[in-house]
Amino acid sequence: MKTIQHSDVLTNEILEKKKQGLSIGFVPTMGALHKGHFSLIRKCKSENDICICSIFVNPTQFNQKSDLEKYPRTPEADADSLRTYNCDILFAPAVEDIYPDGMEYDLEIDLEGLDETMEGEKRPGHFKGVVQVVKRLLDITRCDKLYMGQKDYQQFTIINKLISVFNMSVQLIVCPTERAEDGLALSSRNARLTEKQRRKASIIYRVLNQSKIWLEEGLSPVEIRYRAMEYLDLPLFHPEYFHIVDGYTLSRVSNPDNHKVVVACTAVWTGDVRLIDNMILKGQLNQ
Ligand code: AMP
Repeated sequence: MKTIQHSDVLTNEILEKKKQGLSIGFVPTMGALHKGHFSLIRKCKSENDICICSIFVNPTQFNQKSDLEKYPRTPEADADSLRTYNCDILFAPAVEDIYPDGMEYDLEIDLEGLDETMEGEKRPGHFKGVVQVVKRLLDITRCDKLYMGQKDYQQFTIINKLISVFNMSVQLIVCPTERAEDGLALSSRNARLTEKQRRKASIIYRVLNQSKIWLEEGLSPVEIRYRAMEYLDLPLFHPEYFHIVDGYTLSRVSNPDNHKVVVACTAVWTGDVRLIDNMILKGQLNQ
């Protein structure tokens, strides 16, 4: 595996590979890699000649400085794992490499409200930062396929919009959420849970599953949301939101019959750790 720290070096290397007719797959991450990330790497590796993984903790997508500071960083272990999964190129740039002219947001893009609900509402500016960094990373890597997790449902929906607005010739591949045995979605933030919080955290997955059953039984989204928020309100846990939305527009669903894909998305606090998860309750995403 090659480790590259400078974007111009990476772009030159990729252009050379493309001249040879090789296909390029790309997995952007913020590091502290776990099995969720590795499932993306495996798929990327199996579908492309060259697999690039970036590790970049993007300051512009953190709306709280403390969250950025506390974000886990495990560079040596990450590089070892990527080698094990036969990743070809690790791109590990410095902040100045990605933002040579400063971190000011400079994209003209209408996300048609996708960035205003759920995570966007609770974390102002977060998706601007995500769109900004992913646009730059796509420009640098010139990849044919981009791999992202369903775990961050709103994020991949917004990146899909970015790709279509800029008419970029990259295909977004969404990979299923990898979970621990008890159902908790794997996340770098799970490392910050106490033993007690971790033991109880599978409630999020259980409530999502239960919502699917409630929907199948004919309960209205309003009723499901109300029940789910109640179930998630436990000692040590505090649900921030639980929304039932259209799988493409992310608008709230009142009548599921009017939507092909219906998704439940939630964010739950435990101590100072914020966990997000989602589940498709109806339909299937077209890829
Ligand atoms: P992050 O390092 O948290 O920015 O995540 C990098 C990529 O890995 C994103 O596309 C995430 O959606 C994806 N990802 C994170 N956790 C999981 C998981 N448990 N299962 C599948 N993909 C994941």
